[in-house]
Amino acid sequence: MFAIDSKFPQAETTIFTIMSELAEQLQALNLSQGFPDFAPPQALLDAFKHVPDHLHQYAAGNGILPLRQKISEQYQDLHQISFDPIDEVTISAGATIAIYCIIQAFIHSGDEVIIFDPSYDSYAPSVQLAGGKSIHLPLQAPDFRVDWQQFKDALSNKTRMVIVNTPHNPTGQVWSKQDWLTLIELIRDKNILVLSDEVYEHLIFDGLTHYSVMDFPELQDRAFAVGSFGKSFHVTGWRTGYCVAKAPLMREMRQVYQFANFCGVHPCQIALTEFMTQHPEHLSQLSPFYQNKRDYFLQGLQNSRFKSVASSGTYFQLVDYSEIRDDLNDSEMCQWLARTHKIVGIPISVFYQQPPKTLRYVRFCFAKKEQTLAQAIDILSQC
Ligand code: GLN
Repeated sequence: MFAIDSKFPQAETTIFTIMSELAEQLQALNLSQGFPDFAPPQALLDAFKHVPDHLHQYAAGNGILPLRQKISEQYQDLHQISFDPIDEVTISAGATIAIYCIIQAFIHSGDEVIIFDPSYDSYAPSVQLAGGKSIHLPLQAPDFRVDWQQFKDALSNKTRMVIVNTPHNPTGQVWSKQDWLTLIELIRDKNILVLSDEVYEHLIFDGLTHYSVMDFPELQDRAFAVGSFGKSFHVTGWRTGYCVAKAPLMREMRQVYQFANFCGVHPCQIALTEFMTQHPEHLSQLSPFYQNKRDYFLQGLQNSRFKSVASSGTYFQLVDYSEIRDDLNDSEMCQWLARTHKIVGIPISVFYQQPPKTLRYVRFCFAKKEQTLAQAIDILSQC
């Protein structure tokens, strides 16, 4: 007799799948799941089409070396830190699996991992599957900054990891230098790894600086930074991400990754390398490109009843809907928007272990063509 003994009985389908399916089903405007609705750069598509016949088999397990070299150069240029492309850079099949493997590699049964809520929905399940325990610390609206006293109080002799996400999905907040310095002060004498999800590192607005975990020498020997080609090159479907860390840490991650996925997608890595070589200017154009979209969207919403604090990074904007339907929680609001107004966003309560009852925000993705944003503004102005 066979009986399923679920390791994951309470897990639900991710909100991104649910909301994108809802948009499809209702033929509604989809500003929920984060992905661009415009084409990737033509030169990148061309490079993909011209991948030589013999390069459609497995990639090197840790990623093709020329692409790892590109990432290494990028860290040298932007953060003045040197990562050896051989031992310290890994190309993965998306950032999510890199995050998953880092957690599996370092978290033992009973270890505690500090996560700031709202948090990306893969973190806590990954900790759970490793046998660890997530300690969720809420960021306080409307500015969603870390309460450092609360963080200090949450540290225990079981704390093994803290997961940082800057620029932050879903709030669009970015960590200041002072945030990092405070973190350093509080974990300096503790055996705690910093997993820094920086997949929106090149999308940062209003002249702010993206501080990577790797900008801080005190953290470099105990940190991973995770990045995403999907976000930076408009190719989320290519499932290609990366992580960097000092060799002894990377070795541990790779031991897990080789059995979880073996290698990333070879043709995508070839095309990205080619494109990055031809167009080194691409990355520095991303922030102004997305800032224009954010500004267009926010300007359009000025005469609506949605209120917002401008996002400082990522391609997400939170909007406060309390003037429109304060009677609805955010999941109900998203259903109402989808069914009544044919526009779909993401309720941010799903990113909390314990969502505050008064949360009245919806996340919209502005990685969209101007025409799509114009349609969204039109709809939202009528709510
Ligand atoms: N990172 C994207 C978002 O936040 C979605 C990724 C996914 O669909 N799993 O919308």
